[in-house]
Amino acid sequence: APRTVLISGCSSGIGLELAVQLAHDPRQRYHVVATMRDLGKKGTLEAAAGEALGQTLTVAQLDVCSDESVAQCLSCIQGGEVDVLVNNAGVGLVGPLEGLSLAAMQNVFDTNFFGAVRLVKAVLPGMKRRRQGHIVVVSSVMGLQGVVFNEAYAASKFAVEGFFESLAVQLLQFNIFISLVEPGPVITEFEGKLLEQVSTAEFPGTDPDTLSYFQDLYLPASRELFHNVGQSPQDVAKVIVKVIGSARPPLRRQTNTRYTPLTALKAMDPSGSLYVRTSHRLLFHWPRLLKLGLRCLACSCFRTPVWPR
Ligand code: NAD
Repeated sequence: APRTVLISGCSSGIGLELAVQLAHDPRQRYHVVATMRDLGKKGTLEAAAGEALGQTLTVAQLDVCSDESVAQCLSCIQGGEVDVLVNNAGVGLVGPLEGLSLAAMQNVFDTNFFGAVRLVKAVLPGMKRRRQGHIVVVSSVMGLQGVVFNEAYAASKFAVEGFFESLAVQLLQFNIFISLVEPGPVITEFEGKLLEQVSTAEFPGTDPDTLSYFQDLYLPASRELFHNVGQSPQDVAKVIVKVIGSARPPLRRQTNTRYTPLTALKAMDPSGSLYVRTSHRLLFHWPRLLKLGLRCLACSCFRTPVWPR
């Protein structure tokens, strides 16, 4: 029988792509329950699913921030049995800390962290009973390392990493696997939504220096990074499809090899200084480095083009 795969946040981006790729699996190994908070946005997914709609893919409403919505969604799945859960729904938050409200940061945690926890609590008893299951979490490279002006978002992904790594130990005993997938920059609505947010936000209470570092250094550098190393949601979904299809799924899987030199910096120096100093140099000396034509921005060597165009 096909495995039931429940995915959150399928109205756009990685979730949409993943749902469509799994539903079109040539061996028809999956029945995909592609969920989204607002069913009014299901048009794009349905169009992309094509003939798979109603066959290997069904669309359902699910708000990861609501207990009722999760219960309602699971009650519509035959036997309430989910073989593979993909926690994909997520929101970003970027900007100078002083100008961001605690409510906005709590919303990030409610969605990215507690949203995933809520779904896991709902499907875990069934997986444990059946002694099988796979929980995939779309984390981020920001779950591995802090990124300037993304403090709350990175913290929510660190929380996800710590939670699921801890849970993985116990769940091995039940033949249930956990996989944290860590994309670098991905070109989806995610970045667009963030840039829209920051273009209208005023970040009250932020001093002029910090505001200028954010607007004049961080934002252009971030755009450059997305432009140079950004992956497509299709490519990220392909990696997740492989992870789901694997007999012994990995606990961690980064999706973007062009970003790995940066994540490696943290492992190379356990004191953390190498990573923090390199990130500092990237932000504050970025324009000068670009002028010098220095290609390897991770370690300043001239040999390895880390982010070639
Ligand atoms: P996206 O904005 O296209 O997709 C996120 C989806 O989550 C949207 O469909 C949104 O409606 C949904 N969502 C938000 N709150 C929800 C809620 N309460 N209940 C249900 N759904 C909700 O962006 P994406 O890039 O496809 O993001 C998917 C995941 O990938 C997120 O967890 C994000 O943190 C992660 N990620 C994105 C990037 C990137 O650069 N785009 C990089 C690394 C990780």
